Amino acid sequence: MKKILQDYTKQELSEMIKPAFRAKQIYNWTYHKYASSFDEMKNLPKAMRADLEENFTLTPLKTILIQDSIDGSRKYLFELHDGHTVEAVLLLMKAEQYHEDGSIKHQKRYTVCISSQVGCKVGCAFCLTAKGGFMRNLTAGEIVSQLLMIKKDNDIDANRRVNIVYMGMGEPLDNLDHVAKSIKIFSDPEGMAIATHRQTVSTSGLSTKIEKLGKMELGINLAISLHAVDDELREQLMPINKAYNIESIITAVKNFPINDRKRVMFEYLVIKNVNDDISAAKKLLSLLDGIKSKVNLIYFNPYGGTEFKRPDEKDMMKFQEYLTQRGLLCTIRESKGLDISAACGQLREQEKGE
Ligand code: SAH
Ligand code: SF4
Repeated sequence: MKKILQDYTKQELSEMIKPAFRAKQIYNWTYHKYASSFDEMKNLPKAMRADLEENFTLTPLKTILIQDSIDGSRKYLFELHDGHTVEAVLLLMKAEQYHEDGSIKHQKRYTVCISSQVGCKVGCAFCLTAKGGFMRNLTAGEIVSQLLMIKKDNDIDANRRVNIVYMGMGEPLDNLDHVAKSIKIFSDPEGMAIATHRQTVSTSGLSTKIEKLGKMELGINLAISLHAVDDELREQLMPINKAYNIESIITAVKNFPINDRKRVMFEYLVIKNVNDDISAAKKLLSLLDGIKSKVNLIYFNPYGGTEFKRPDEKDMMKFQEYLTQRGLLCTIRESKGLDISAACGQLREQEKGE
C-alpha cells in the first residue's frame, strides 16, 4: 500500500527523500498549491516524481458527500482507503474589523472541525458517534488531509487564517500520538502554518492524557466536554467518568500550560430536564473557581431514537445569565448547521440510512 504523504513531518520527509531541500518543495506543493499528484510538482526531477508517485499518495481521502447549511457552514463526509467514513465541517463566522477611518469591515473567519477517529470508544449516552462503536484511529495524515481537502474545495488561500477544532468524530486524546503529530504538521511554517494557539483539542476528560498533552508544551488550546457537575450524573451521561472523575479533570486542567491570552473552554451540553437547572449552574461556578475559563453552553441537538431533548431557550438564557452575572465568561453556541445536523456523527448516520 502507498504511504500517505501527509503522515510525515517535513523533518521526516527530508530524511526519506534526498537531497533534503526536496522536502521543502514537496511541502510547498502539497500545502500551498494543493497539488493532488506528484506530476504537478514541476520543479522536481521527472524520475523523482515517478518514484514518489509509486510510493506515496497525496489523496488519502475521497469526498463522498457535501452538505450546505443555510448558515453558511458546509459539512463533508470523507471515505478512507479502507472504506470507513469520517466527517469534517467548515464553519464560517462573521468577524467585524474596523478600518482606520472607523468604518466596519466584515470578514469571514474560517473554523474547521475535524475528526480524529472512526467512531469512538468513550460511549457517551447522548452522542451519535458513540452508537456505531469504535473502528480505528486516524493517522496524522488522514487528520491533516481533512483540512487540506476543505481548503482546496473552497478555494481558501493557503495564507488565509483558519482555526482548527478537534471536535469532530472521536476522542482526540485516545489517539494522542497521531493527534499531536497532526498539530505539529498543521503548524509547520512552511506547511499550513496554523499557529498552535489557533488549534483547540476537545476532550471528554481523559485526565492522565490531559497531563501528558500538557507536558508536550504544544501551545494549543484545551476544551473540556464537562456536561455535568456531579459525578453521579456525569457517569450516566459519560461512562468514562468512572475512570476519570470530575475532580481529576479539574486537577489536570489546573496543571495544563495555558497561553496567557487564552482560557480553557468548558463545554456544557444542555439537555432538557437533565442538567439545565440553576443548581447546576451554581455548582459549575464553584467548580471553575480559580481556573481561567470560559463556558460554552451547547444546545443538545436531537436525532432519531434518542430519549434526550433540546433545552428550552429560556432555561438556556437563565443558565447563561446566572454565570455571566457572577463574572464567568459564558457563551451559547449558535446551533450552527443544525439543519444539516452538525453534531458529530450525524451526517454519517444519515448516509448509512439511505
Ligand atoms: N470526543 C471529544 C471531541 C468530539 S465531540 C469530546 O467529546 O470532547 C465534540 C462535542 O460535540 C462534544 O462537546 C460533544 O459533547 C458534543 N456533542 C455530542 N453529541 C451531541 C449532540 N447530539 N448535540 C450537540 N452536541 C453534541
Ligand atoms: Fe466520543 Fe466525544 Fe462522542 Fe463522547 S461526545 S462518544 S467522547 S465523540
